[in-house]
Amino acid sequence: MIEQAQQVLERHFGYSKFRPQQETIIANVLAKKDTLVLMPTGGGKSICYQIPALLFDGVAIVISPLISLMKDQVEGLRANGIKAAYFNSSLDPVQERQVINDAIDGSIKLLYISPEKLFTITDNWLKDVQVSMFAIDEAHCVSMWGHDFRPEYTQLSSVRKQFKTVPFIALTATADKATRKDIIKQLGLSKATVFLSSFNRPNLSLEVRANVPKKKKIKEIISFIENRPNQSGIIYCLSRKQTEEIAKELKAYHIEAEAYHAGLSAQKRARIQEDFINDDLSIITATIAFGMGIDKSNVRWVIHNNLPKNIEGYYQEIGRAGRDGLPSTTVMYYNLRDLMVLKQFASGSEQTPIYTEKLNRMLNYAEATSCRRKILLAYFSEDFKHDCGNCDVCKNPPQFLDGTILAQKALSAIRRTNQEIGTNMLINILRGSANQELYSKGYQNIKTYGVGNDISFKDWQHYITQLINIGVMEIAYDEGFRLKITNFGNEVLFKDRKVKVTQALDRSVKKKEQKKKAKKLTKQEQLFEELRQLRASIAKKQGVPAYIVFHDATLQQIALELPTSEEDLLTIQGINQVKVERYAQPFIDLIQAHKDKQMNTFEVTYRFYQQGISPEQIAEERGLSMTTIFSHLAKLYSDGKDIDLSIYVNTSEVQQIREAYLQIKSINSLKPYFDFFNEKMPYYKIKLGLTIIMKELAH
Ligand code: ADP
Ligand code: ZN
Repeated sequence: MIEQAQQVLERHFGYSKFRPQQETIIANVLAKKDTLVLMPTGGGKSICYQIPALLFDGVAIVISPLISLMKDQVEGLRANGIKAAYFNSSLDPVQERQVINDAIDGSIKLLYISPEKLFTITDNWLKDVQVSMFAIDEAHCVSMWGHDFRPEYTQLSSVRKQFKTVPFIALTATADKATRKDIIKQLGLSKATVFLSSFNRPNLSLEVRANVPKKKKIKEIISFIENRPNQSGIIYCLSRKQTEEIAKELKAYHIEAEAYHAGLSAQKRARIQEDFINDDLSIITATIAFGMGIDKSNVRWVIHNNLPKNIEGYYQEIGRAGRDGLPSTTVMYYNLRDLMVLKQFASGSEQTPIYTEKLNRMLNYAEATSCRRKILLAYFSEDFKHDCGNCDVCKNPPQFLDGTILAQKALSAIRRTNQEIGTNMLINILRGSANQELYSKGYQNIKTYGVGNDISFKDWQHYITQLINIGVMEIAYDEGFRLKITNFGNEVLFKDRKVKVTQALDRSVKKKEQKKKAKKLTKQEQLFEELRQLRASIAKKQGVPAYIVFHDATLQQIALELPTSEEDLLTIQGINQVKVERYAQPFIDLIQAHKDKQMNTFEVTYRFYQQGISPEQIAEERGLSMTTIFSHLAKLYSDGKDIDLSIYVNTSEVQQIREAYLQIKSINSLKPYFDFFNEKMPYYKIKLGLTIIMKELAH
């Protein structure tokens, strides 16, 4: 049966190979065994149940928590020629009736149902459906340990009991160890085979930027976006207010961006989301709620404006970038203020210990001095052996230095002010600043005033953050964020216990980013842009999101391989017969036109030449330089076209160039020849002479 699965992969999805694990997972489901799949976002989970659904007799029931996602999934399947439907609260009674009929007479292969709807039908018409399997998508929603608990999910275990012989497959992209165990328990999947894929997403680059002041941060974000014209991205913020502020700043720079948060009307949210999915809006500034219900594969970057609450959430949010597997960028900003705000959120609830623990792990990640990917994957209990090479720490390893004296200076200032100051005041004292509040308190008179004026404010922030993280000092959240000296701190101060810190450095990655000017598109990128626009217009006509027509990865391969026939198109990843029939022609036309344009330039010159028009006139006519026209003639001559170059470079000149060639022995650059002739032989003659000589040599 697995051979059939391979055929279905090719025929229905247009892919030639299974990804790691997909094949074994499908084999397990086809053997009617319960299955738990833990695979990162973009790993290719859907196919793991969609292919068995197509091979089994009957209808597969897919449980999915998000109505918007259901619609996208079903549209995606239909675009591949697969019969699927969804059943949720968005349907009117007539539509409901239609879906029920289709399910009962088996004319669909997959039926997506929201969990709350499922329980209204299990004792009802679902009994009349030949159910082939159950797929539980986003299975972590069943667990209170996860970060997206949905009470309706807990009733799924009763469905497991009711449909004893039907295989269950549960899938999730976010599960730490505790959640994993809980999923198995809650869904009654104790006999399930568990497939744990690597959670690594090598195509996502990771970067953290610490303690960037607000104004500078927005500047950095703007230049980041300007370096990525037309790319889709999400900026996650802690508060609604921030989403609005940042969207406004971006608009002031003529960057189209919309804020998205729970305070907007449902209608407005739906419109923004739709525009984003359809590539009509490139950038969204959002609170964390955004993205749960979307399945957009070409989000190219994600920025976190603040420290996220926990690693699960952070990993899921950055995971919304690059689902198509193409390189994508993620940047997280954080500063001490974020930490304070988050700690305050956390305090005073039953959940506080879990919450604080998760926040601390997040902080460790932000402050990492070794490969970030290793830390992330370790969080998901994965032992990742190598440094990834695609995070800022790998690209720019930090230098360690002895921070004992730095720490002693800071601790001493805290002690001499009776542990009553916060971070900013501490730094002002150390730097000897003429701050008004500082003077009013008389801190300019203490012994440590100004002892750290050789270090910038920002660098001090860097060191103090580390000292807090190492545990040399701590922040008293309940006492106005004053800094307190810990036992460890006392040992540093009085017993000279050593501490190591990383050198503060303006990461050069960042500098490069700022210097890069808005770049010109290459030919291939231009074609990709044209393909994207064509795709957008087709998608609009059909009322589906752009990626339903073709994924970005598919368009990129098209731009690279330039297929101009239906057979050629079929060899591209993600294109099957159904898609060829639906979409091939306009794409083939576009590529053909592109190829013609590429070809033309030489042919046009040749046509002029054949009419006896001089190179000067051709250059003028075509608005090109003489050098370009001569290089066209040289190429046409090398290609064997009937061109008489002796008009432009005579036999004796060719002879001189030949002698020069025998000495210089290289044609990589014309400059040595130009020098050889003391700048008396024009470049175009050298070029043509060498072309003649090379052709002779080739014979
Ligand atoms: P997940 O649900 O795990 O986040 P999806 O099922 O949406 O991931 O798949 C992510 C992307 O990978 C989709 O664009 C999908 O079409 C593509 N994909 C899945 N399996 C393969 C495969 N075997 N070869 C190429 N692309 C694949
Ligand atoms: Zn790394």
